[in-house]
Amino acid sequence: MGTEQGILPGCGSVVASAAEGEGKVKPEAAGGKPRYELINREQLCWRRVDVERLIGEEHAARAVWEFVGQLDLRGYEEEVRAVEGKAGRPGWEPRLLISLWIYAYSEGVNSGRAIEELCEWEPAYQWLTGARVVNGHTLSDFRVKHEAALQGLFVQVLGLLSADGLVTLQRVMQDGTKIRAKAAADSFRRKERVEQALQQAREQVAAVGAMSEEETSRRMAKARQRAARERQERLEQALKEFNQLAEEGKDKEKRRVSTSDPEARVMKQPDGGFAPSYNVQIDTDAANGVVVAVGVVQAGNDFEQLESGIERVKQNLGKTPQEVVTDGGFVSRDNIVAMKGREIEFIAPCVDEAGKGESSYEGRGVSGEYHSSAFLYDAHSDSYRCPQGKTLRYEGKEERHMQVSYRYRAQRSDCRGCPVKSQCCPGNRVTGRSVHRGEELAEVTEFRRKMETEQAREIYRQRAQVAETPNLWIKAKFGLRQFSVRGLRKVGMEALWACLTYNICVWMRLRWRQAAAVALPA
Ligand code: SF4
Repeated sequence: MGTEQGILPGCGSVVASAAEGEGKVKPEAAGGKPRYELINREQLCWRRVDVERLIGEEHAARAVWEFVGQLDLRGYEEEVRAVEGKAGRPGWEPRLLISLWIYAYSEGVNSGRAIEELCEWEPAYQWLTGARVVNGHTLSDFRVKHEAALQGLFVQVLGLLSADGLVTLQRVMQDGTKIRAKAAADSFRRKERVEQALQQAREQVAAVGAMSEEETSRRMAKARQRAARERQERLEQALKEFNQLAEEGKDKEKRRVSTSDPEARVMKQPDGGFAPSYNVQIDTDAANGVVVAVGVVQAGNDFEQLESGIERVKQNLGKTPQEVVTDGGFVSRDNIVAMKGREIEFIAPCVDEAGKGESSYEGRGVSGEYHSSAFLYDAHSDSYRCPQGKTLRYEGKEERHMQVSYRYRAQRSDCRGCPVKSQCCPGNRVTGRSVHRGEELAEVTEFRRKMETEQAREIYRQRAQVAETPNLWIKAKFGLRQFSVRGLRKVGMEALWACLTYNICVWMRLRWRQAAAVALPA
């Protein structure tokens, strides 16, 4: 070829030419055919790169690098083996790996392999790495390896944002969002099937371990051993999850565990369907939309998550919020009492138990004249009298979300011969009519009254925008509709990375961009 050639990823301009003479169309005469430079995409080439000028002064990658540079990263240094005075290849500094992940999440990239590819050619990644390429496995391992250090990083960032006046804890909005697990819906199995699969996996681990290096390359052997070992570990975890389901009171016949991600649970999705998921609980400070706590749980409901969310806020910032705002999914008698006990103002829509009871009458075909309000309560005898003068005696009590509900029931014989049975209890074949008497705690009555005020309703109207913005960003902008790792611990770390990135994006929007605009020439 006679051409000086070399390889530099990201080559955009040609320095060395292709085969001599190629690409030039010789003019036959003035005024002949036009001549153009040939585009040759088959060649390899060198180019000169000014790494510092790959991105502009106001580029987000610079902001991430600058912000991470302020943080104390000693928590990541405990396991560094390449130290001064000892032989061995130096490792990547934590500041770089953290910056790469934060910048990647902010751009909707959430896989180590994708970042490795981007390091080959994308200017912002090249600027961050100094035009080097970081291995995807190194990045993936780093993301889930340092749990305590990552938690410490999140707290440090909150400390910086608080010191900058971006967090006040006057009003915090808590919300839960379901994010899909890395598990297929058809990966759920009964216990017997999991035990069989585990036996096979153990045999496979032994078989792969016995393979000689002549049969397969060393690298492939390691990959196979790792895959077989991870499958065995997942299935062992799956067996443990059956015990967890038993403790949760799940019906034995309905117990199933995913063999892909045993800690995932089937949860109802916003579109009404069901999918293997985790419930991500996010607490957002209303002042500037900073996420002040994040936790991942296996429970599909929200009302059991309020207190743990408040505890996480306290752990992160040293104090609890003055006010907490949630949607109706968090409203329960226990939460109302608990927030009162913690002296936190609880703002949430009031679920009207009485109203729910009346609407259920309609569904059962009970006519309006025979709703519970038509039955008279006698406190002296603790019984009700029905419109036909029959007595309904106390039968038992139930605990509902907002109140204790006492149940009273008529004699079956009284109702069976009653002329208005078809209007009063048309569906009751083996029992008489029942009514419920609800008894509210003083805290619940106070909460109910508070939520009837315009002031409380106005605060509640702000909830959706504040609480749901981080959820939407994490899913739509960061692309975290499905976790890319498995297991509660790793999934919790991925959620933490996403919220850490979100908070740094808030800082960039509210502080760094303004400062950069002032510093840059007009
Ligand atoms: S059906 Fe029973 S409870 Fe209802 S009015 Fe008749 S006797 Fe009373």
